[in-house]
Amino acid sequence: MSEQDLVLVLNCGSSSVKAAVMDVAEKEVLMSCLAEKVGNTDAFITFKINGEKHKHALTGSHDHVAAVMALLEQLKDLGLYDRVKAIGHRVVHGGERFTQSTVITPEVMRDIEACIVLAPLHNPAHILGIQAAQQAFPDLPQVAVFDTAFHQTMPPHAYHYAIPSTLYTRYGVRRYGAHGTSYRYVAQETAAFLKRDINEMSMVIAHLGNGASITAVKNGRSQDTSMGLTPLEGLVMGTRCGDIDPSIFSFLAANAKMSIEQITEMLNKESGLLGLSNLSNDCRMLEEAAANGHKGAELALDVFAYRLAKYVGGMMVACGSLDALVFTGGIGENSTMMREKVVNYLNVFGLILDHDANMEACFGTPGVISTADSKASVMVIPTNEELMIAQDTARLTGMHL
Ligand code: AMP
Repeated sequence: MSEQDLVLVLNCGSSSVKAAVMDVAEKEVLMSCLAEKVGNTDAFITFKINGEKHKHALTGSHDHVAAVMALLEQLKDLGLYDRVKAIGHRVVHGGERFTQSTVITPEVMRDIEACIVLAPLHNPAHILGIQAAQQAFPDLPQVAVFDTAFHQTMPPHAYHYAIPSTLYTRYGVRRYGAHGTSYRYVAQETAAFLKRDINEMSMVIAHLGNGASITAVKNGRSQDTSMGLTPLEGLVMGTRCGDIDPSIFSFLAANAKMSIEQITEMLNKESGLLGLSNLSNDCRMLEEAAANGHKGAELALDVFAYRLAKYVGGMMVACGSLDALVFTGGIGENSTMMREKVVNYLNVFGLILDHDANMEACFGTPGVISTADSKASVMVIPTNEELMIAQDTARLTGMHL
């Protein structure tokens, strides 16, 4: 094993702590872990080391500090502790304040706190995670990498909602987008794969996981994206509805006697692929069910593909031209069927799928999946948000690689 300096990447949720120890130079994860039920007495942490999983109860305070302390002890046991030189944190919302990743200072912490109103479930957990890491690793520099930052280049006509503008100036109601770290990584990798200059390329990138969004990237800058004030807007997702008529709220309140909280919960957790299929939020499972004649699964996949294809057309307008349509995320990287359905709709723009190439670009293998005469390249590029966070952290802390 090389003796490179390492970065610890932390992704803290309200009841979870996900971590990876990365060798940035080798682009390698040396160890990862996931603490679950954090904050509860039955909290536990699972370490993944050399492909093997080890599960331990989280003792002591059972909280984020306990999770980070357990991680610290594991690093010591593995002889990695002294090599960790910086910590990178995934932060969901940076509002308009953060346009790029930044070294965490007391002022940055205050600004992350100020964004809690925009991400009430996520940002408080990130703050707990940062504080726990500061307690456990007081001498290490820490960096915040924001999901929203990449989209701060969107022009006003893309980020404004057509509602009274005072709601923007008073409350910050606008479109912010998400998955920005993934888009930044995939845009770089796409240009590198094609041996082209990112500053002279128009791309539409579809990040299709359990959460799904699509972004227009021109010359390396986000021009528009499908998620909005929250991740609920845009594409059909695993359990989120994506775009709907906002009047559904008042309609359901009047006719189904549902409260705002109940409707919000339903649209976030019981809709999308799950709601349409009445079976599952999992694309792979739906593909199997559809192949066996399950009508709900078939409908769910059709709505997902159709909505996505329509959005690609919209994002081409945002770019003004198209060099590459890129699929990433669990569905984008693996579902040959979904890619085929979507690209078939896009024949109208001259995009043509190469069937064999589509079958080959799976399970982590990147590739161009369009024919030579396709108007633009259709591609599969696996994402790696953890590596992007680790690279930002290494760069901003002046780490020698
Ligand atoms: P992610 O959130 O990026 O991990 O993506 C999760 C989604 O990817 C789930 O809907 C999975 O069913 C889907 N997925 C993963 N592997 C496959 C596969 N081989 N075929 C179809 N969908 C897949």
